[in-house]
Amino acid sequence: MMKTPLLVSHLFAYSQTYFPTKEIVSRTSNGVHRYTYAEFGKRTHRLSAALAALGVRPGDRVGTLAWNDHRHLEAYFAVPNMGAVLHTINIRLSSDQLSYIVNHAKDRVLLVDANLVHLLTPIRQQLTRVQAFVIFGGDASILDGPLQPAYSYEDLLTQANPNFSYPIELDENSPMGMCYTSATTGLPKGVVYSHRGIYLHSMAMGLANTAALSESDTVMPIVPMFHANAWGLPFAAIWFGAKVVLPGPAPSPGVLLDLIAEERVTLAAGVPTIWLGILKELETQPRHVALRMALCGGAAAPPALIQAYEEKHHIPFVHAYGMTETSPLALFSRLKSYQEKLPYTQKLTLRATQGLLVPGLEMRVTNGDQDVAWDGAEMGELLLRGPWIADGYEDDERSKDTFIDGWLHTGDVATVNEEGFVKLVDRTKDLVKSGGEWISSMDLENALMAHPAVFEATVIGVAHPKWNERPLAFVVLKEGQSASKQDLLTFLTEQFPKWWVPDDLIFMHEIPKTSVGKFLKRSLREQYQDYLQRRQNDTEIPE
Ligand code: ADP
Repeated sequence: MMKTPLLVSHLFAYSQTYFPTKEIVSRTSNGVHRYTYAEFGKRTHRLSAALAALGVRPGDRVGTLAWNDHRHLEAYFAVPNMGAVLHTINIRLSSDQLSYIVNHAKDRVLLVDANLVHLLTPIRQQLTRVQAFVIFGGDASILDGPLQPAYSYEDLLTQANPNFSYPIELDENSPMGMCYTSATTGLPKGVVYSHRGIYLHSMAMGLANTAALSESDTVMPIVPMFHANAWGLPFAAIWFGAKVVLPGPAPSPGVLLDLIAEERVTLAAGVPTIWLGILKELETQPRHVALRMALCGGAAAPPALIQAYEEKHHIPFVHAYGMTETSPLALFSRLKSYQEKLPYTQKLTLRATQGLLVPGLEMRVTNGDQDVAWDGAEMGELLLRGPWIADGYEDDERSKDTFIDGWLHTGDVATVNEEGFVKLVDRTKDLVKSGGEWISSMDLENALMAHPAVFEATVIGVAHPKWNERPLAFVVLKEGQSASKQDLLTFLTEQFPKWWVPDDLIFMHEIPKTSVGKFLKRSLREQYQDYLQRRQNDTEIPE
């Protein structure tokens, strides 16, 4: 067979040939922007030319610090097409982390949204390798600000050479992208994506066994374009010719739901906290939506969330699992055809698992060296390998702890049932170790979020003098709903062994979230580590 390299530029060329009239809709600070794939293509080509004129060469890193909009999408293709490496930077990092990753990635040019420039100005002096800042939007005065040298994105595109030609064919294993994990502890770790990996990952997004993404879809990545390639949706959607909707700066649940309704979005993707927010909006101000798939990943989707979307709003809600290290799609929870006949509660239980391995990958769930039995009970660590799984971190000696004997050790503890459905029990570090037994914080959270009065809930393990660790729950109630601590603990007692039930439950107005919208357990742990001890001594307890 022919050894045609699998390159991002091929996705782009195909899309330009077959779908020039398809539409890309983007919410920006200046209102909604619409254009066709053909116009997108021309600008993307000009962006490659402009970057080349700024000195970017194949292999160089180009960082983006931007919201989900059409300019970010142009960079998604312009940078890999010219053989350079697209480094998408998390806009919610601390200054220290930002300067660490821009320097560590050796970013040469940064593409920055005008309303995010303020994140870089205090650290400009530390970004010694950055030769140019290219600003998306904003007025002319921003170019005279402290971030130098600065260029207007639109001006660069206008001045770019329209006859620019791309470098000769690249190696499919050459790098095309980079993303740092948000790192709950220590410094962020860099993952480098290859053309081949992203090509195959995009193809996997189109499989009927996964998202079945196709030309007939209208795709909206709510997940930020700096979070694991927006789960690969921009690449797959453009390749297959789907209409693309990008929700722009800091979209509220109301804005998201309006876009879903007005643009007739068929597939949108986000973390559970995003879907919880949209659900609340849907219930207070219903809109007619045409979603065929609400794709939820990045953290466990509570069964009650799946049920609320499907039973009340008739929106198919699908759960998937991945990591920055896995491009990210790795598991996808769709029932097998013969399982459709099962009673709803059984189907819900299965669909709330992280699902089946995506075709193209391999997995093991191991306990020491032994693979666990596929009995839905024995727990072990999930290991993955395949063409879109990273094999190390960029220039980082921590690689050896995660990439062992050709397998990515995910740090996630899971069971597998007889049909191959993987159920995550917890991240290793989130499991509560009570008196030598394991308690799944994830199961307790899912159960609490099934209570009709509960909006959000999370559970952590905190120190206990006798049991080593005990679960402590945090709950945000739905507006206008009430439930007492005792109501909720009793609710859990009806579903779990007594020793699983948290020792206490704390009501909050909001659970702290990570930069990508997951519950930030680390900060709760820091604050409440000795809570039970203090409660016992009856000393002051934090609010
Ligand atoms: P971070 O580590 O900063 O959260 P990632 O997005 O790469 O960055 O996180 C990957 C982790 O998120 C996985 O290892 C897993 O613990 C968790 N995760 C991802 N998807 C799911 C899911 N569907 N259910 C439960 N946990 C998930």
